[in-house]
Amino acid sequence: MTVAYLSLGSNLGDRKAQLQEAVRLLQANPAISNVKMSSVYETAPVGYLDQGAFLNLAVRLETSLSPLELLDACQGIEQTLQRERLVRWGPRTVDLDILLYGQEQLVTEKLTIPHPRMSERAFVLVPLRELLPSLAITEELETQEIQLWKAYSSVTAFLMDEN
Ligand code: ATP
Ligand code: CA
Ligand code: CA
Repeated sequence: MTVAYLSLGSNLGDRKAQLQEAVRLLQANPAISNVKMSSVYETAPVGYLDQGAFLNLAVRLETSLSPLELLDACQGIEQTLQRERLVRWGPRTVDLDILLYGQEQLVTEKLTIPHPRMSERAFVLVPLRELLPSLAITEELETQEIQLWKAYSSVTAFLMDEN
């Protein structure tokens, strides 16, 4: 079993419902266990600016999947949620990125771990820090626009939230 951390985001359609579905599908994977999540944050878009605000959260999980199998699982969930990608860094129903996979360092065409852009993104690091308190965040990132949207006591509470 390896501990892995993911970043999830959505800025199109019913953002919370899509994140709930993504977390539900992760939990439903028999090779994934012990799923924990951060609070949900709302973030102004970065990169391609002409799009709606994102909801972001981080997930910690344990898995027997290899890094590439975990990427496949994430992309399968994106496809299930009918992610459309019209513009790079543009709006999407759901995005699942692998941030960390154990102590693994990997650079391949399909997969780079740790995620190559995580250290410059407050919307990734602020949720991740809830699950990994030792994580350091530079002051310059603290100024990026990110707001606590809602905190949940458990994954189950998140999945049951219908408001
Ligand atoms: P960014 O990677 O900057 O957050 P993005 O999430 O919008 O951008 P995508 O279009 O979702 O980018 O992904 C492009 C490709 O990135 C994927 O097809 C995948 O093969 C590759 N990739 C490389 N490293 C990772 C990683 N750690 N997690 C997820 N995808 C990755
Ligand atoms: Ca991403
Ligand atoms: Ca991605």
